[in-house]
Amino acid sequence: MAHTEEYDVIIVGAGFAGVHQLLNIRKLGLAAKILEAGNGLGGTWYWNRYPGARVDSEMPIYQFSDPELWRDWTFTEYHPGWQEIQAYFRYVDKKLDVSRDVLYNSRVASAHWNDSVDRWTVTTKDGRIFRAQFLSLCTGIGSKYHVPDFKGLDTFKGQVHHTARWPEKYDIKGKKVGVIGNGASGVQVIQEIAPTVSHLTVFQRTPNMALPMKQRKNNGAEEEKVKRDLYPLLYARRSQTFAGFFYDFKQTPVADTTPEERALVLEDLWEKGGLCFCLGCYAELLSNREFNDEVYAFWRKKVRERITDPTLQEKLAPMKPPHPFGIRRPSLEQRYFEVFSQANVTLVDINEAAIEEIIPKGLKTSDGIEHELDVVVLATGFDMVTGGITSIDIRGQDGISIKEKWVDGVQSYLGLASATYPNMFWIYGPQSPSSFSNGPSSIELISDWIIVGLIVGE
Ligand code: NAP
Repeated sequence: MAHTEEYDVIIVGAGFAGVHQLLNIRKLGLAAKILEAGNGLGGTWYWNRYPGARVDSEMPIYQFSDPELWRDWTFTEYHPGWQEIQAYFRYVDKKLDVSRDVLYNSRVASAHWNDSVDRWTVTTKDGRIFRAQFLSLCTGIGSKYHVPDFKGLDTFKGQVHHTARWPEKYDIKGKKVGVIGNGASGVQVIQEIAPTVSHLTVFQRTPNMALPMKQRKNNGAEEEKVKRDLYPLLYARRSQTFAGFFYDFKQTPVADTTPEERALVLEDLWEKGGLCFCLGCYAELLSNREFNDEVYAFWRKKVRERITDPTLQEKLAPMKPPHPFGIRRPSLEQRYFEVFSQANVTLVDINEAAIEEIIPKGLKTSDGIEHELDVVVLATGFDMVTGGITSIDIRGQDGISIKEKWVDGVQSYLGLASATYPNMFWIYGPQSPSSFSNGPSSIELISDWIIVGLIVGE
């Protein structure tokens, strides 16, 4: 029988959440181990290496708030790419030796609570067994990637790559590429590869109301002064705002403003770039449909100015909003809307010509057209938010798996724990601010809250 390794806490996942939990738990003098499926730190940033992958939160907000870590670290761009975020995690590891408490290449298969000993038994896919008083699920919102059940996918003679499992060394230059999906991952991969592939066909189901990223280089000129004088304030501020950014919604009632004032406000937010167009807007954006339509009309006008072809204008920024503005986390783009005017790029609206099947030489749509492809890129997202947890066979006091328990919807306490699963917590998961917040902001708050719980519960 396999040897059982004993810990106070087992943490699943070594992204921002898992690393923060570990560092917190170390401070309590408890023994913890992170079990991580990948071969490095970073979580989503370990796996998401597709061309153009970069974060939508601007620096310095997207990092740990511990001065010991930010004092000696600088990102070179305001929206760092995946390589630099991986470098950041290597830096954190070097500084705090996170890896001594991580077991890499270890995907967790099950976690069962045992009432008679008040412990969790956790097993990995390769058969290792762990026992711990506490189980901390730091599996993130996008750890289980989604491959739609396309007919004929296995018959394709070319290569298929999901954005969440991009091969480490892969040159897509000069190839005929089809991208399915245009969420944040799709937008980034599309704008990045469009200049160098021989042909790009984008299969779009819903237009993306992407906002301008307004990427900037960090020349570091004032950084020392800003770090010394402002960082502590900025990180304190981060935990007070709606979405964990430095900016927040305006509470002024829209009815108290004039259309001219609102137009100026929107123009200013647009010029700033990034998510503040949404999260720095009037709070009524999310509750007042009329105002929401006004913001959409502003966005549509801005986007249409960048597209000359009227058909493309209507496909990418339609007159009628496909959904209210801001109810999906907006993606940030750099040259996305210009890409579609390139001669080597075709946009296929799959509401008009559905994806019928993948054929050996490409993809066939319901209008009978066979799109010849060397590569199919699946930017089709994830089993979002719950997938990382429900893909583990987690059984609590009543022996019922959490997947079964949540079949009709998630039930949680404060988006971090669930009845009948004692001593089990999750961070940045179901019913927490997760997708609508800056990851490290809400992660640190929840992680600290759990630690307070551990101290009080002792
Ligand atoms: P996503 O937002 O779920 O987008 C998936 C895309 O695939 C959508 O365009 C979707 O269309 C399409 N799709 C799914 N199934 C399809 C099917 N059967 N046929 C055709 N199209 C299909 O996934 P994601 O872009 O990977 O993003 C996931 C999360 O990660 C988001 O919360 C995002 O904000 C975050 N993310 C952030 C960054 C960043 O920080 N910059 C980068 C990447 C991802 P519909 O829209 O019609 O459903």
